[in-house]
Amino acid sequence: MIYDTIVIGGGPAGMTAAIKAKETCEKAKILIIDRNKKLGKKLYATGNGRCNIANSALDLSSYHSCNEFFPYQIINTESYKKLKEFFMDLGVAIYDDGGYLYPQSMQASTVVWALSDRIKHLGIEIHTTEEAESVEPTDEMYGVVTDCAEYTARTVVAAPGSAAAPKLGGTESVYRLLENTDIRTIAPHPALCRLKTREDTSDLAGVRARCRVSLLCDGDVYDSESGEIQFADGWLSGIAVFNLSMQCIDLLDDGRTPVVEVTLVPEMDEGDVLGYLRKFRDSNPDRRLEAMSNGLVNEKIARFIINRLELKSVTAARLTDEELDRMVFEIKHMRFEISGHGGYDESQAACGGIDTRQLRPDSMEADGYKGLYVAGEYADVTGKCGGYNIMWAVMTGMRAGEAAGKRLTHDKNK
Ligand SMILES: Cc1cc2nc3c(=O)[nH]c(=O)nc-3n(C[C@H](O)[C@H](O)[C@H](O)COP(=O)(O)OP(=O)(O)OC[C@H]3O[C@@H](n4cnc5c(N)ncnc54)[C@H](O)[C@@H]3O)c2cc1C
Repeated sequence: MIYDTIVIGGGPAGMTAAIKAKETCEKAKILIIDRNKKLGKKLYATGNGRCNIANSALDLSSYHSCNEFFPYQIINTESYKKLKEFFMDLGVAIYDDGGYLYPQSMQASTVVWALSDRIKHLGIEIHTTEEAESVEPTDEMYGVVTDCAEYTARTVVAAPGSAAAPKLGGTESVYRLLENTDIRTIAPHPALCRLKTREDTSDLAGVRARCRVSLLCDGDVYDSESGEIQFADGWLSGIAVFNLSMQCIDLLDDGRTPVVEVTLVPEMDEGDVLGYLRKFRDSNPDRRLEAMSNGLVNEKIARFIINRLELKSVTAARLTDEELDRMVFEIKHMRFEISGHGGYDESQAACGGIDTRQLRPDSMEADGYKGLYVAGEYADVTGKCGGYNIMWAVMTGMRAGEAAGKRLTHDKNK
């Protein structure tokens, strides 16, 4: 069976690509193949079921890639507007929550249904529960071999996502899909996941704290994030930590020892904290040290600090100035050596994937493979939490789909 376009993967990238290809070339015969029973399974689970679809804030730390500037050749400060227009056209109104974009319904299902309904309306063929195993370049065409059939396509959009979240369709086999081409893959690893501490943090289990977290290694600061940290037995998590995990895992993979520094009470500087503790000591000389730091931080953190600093004094009055300084330092620079990270089963994304140095940013076409496009998380681009990954998937899906549609229109008019 010959198709004009075969889209491998029915996530936000693949669904968008199929829609755009068909809208650009109405006569095109398009097939979407997905190994799941339904399209958009991962999308249903995003944003805790609310689907944080995009983000209007953008800086050079929003995306992680070995090809650092590539993501910004596709995503710019106008992208979220284009994405909004695309979804408005599908009938999904967008709610802007301080830069974090969601469907107005606050339901991911609204987004999945809108994409799926447009796909059906356009007459795009869908094969679910079918897994593509390889893409074989032949003369001017591509063979697509699946676990139950073989097809030929004029153009192929590879959008199978990543290995992250296997229960939602993620699989490490995606990295073998283009094995029969010269297209390189950057070694993948989990991303947006929790980090394992070398130190026993069981005393902090269950604590959540507002803070700033920074990733340090050998005296350099790699990244910093504000937000809430969550402590578990031997683990650090929470969105701020997830966002540091991408670079942190790169450092671990390089055999280095990254450190996460937690700055508690972020709105007070060290001078403010010292002033507070001194005043406490003067006004409450008989109160215990736990109460002193508990005036600023959660009581479990207060006890953890006292144990860590091995403070002998039991009342505030007996705390020396030097001990006071150490307490301030610990509150503002609580450091944890990182020894590991969560696996794909608990990751929201994966780093690595198709090396973007071989992709054209205007079309997502692979160099040397006319009509073969890559979209979404399959490429070596990973966004921070906050809508950046779906925005990447949709925007690259648009570019790939439009480019495939234009190629088909051009060929059909020949
Ligand atoms: C719990 C969770 C919450 C998240 N929340 C957010 C959020 O709020 N905002 C945000 O921006 N990002 C979020 N993400 C990340 C986001 O979901 C992904 O980055 C995004 O879905 C990637 O889109 P994609 O189309 O590239 O890949 P996917 O959505 O993973 O879709 C790829 C599809 O390809 C299929 N497939 C894989 N291999 C094959 C094959 N060989 N043959 C056929 N089909 C195949 C899969 O079954 C899957 O349906 C979240 C992720 C998780 C796990």
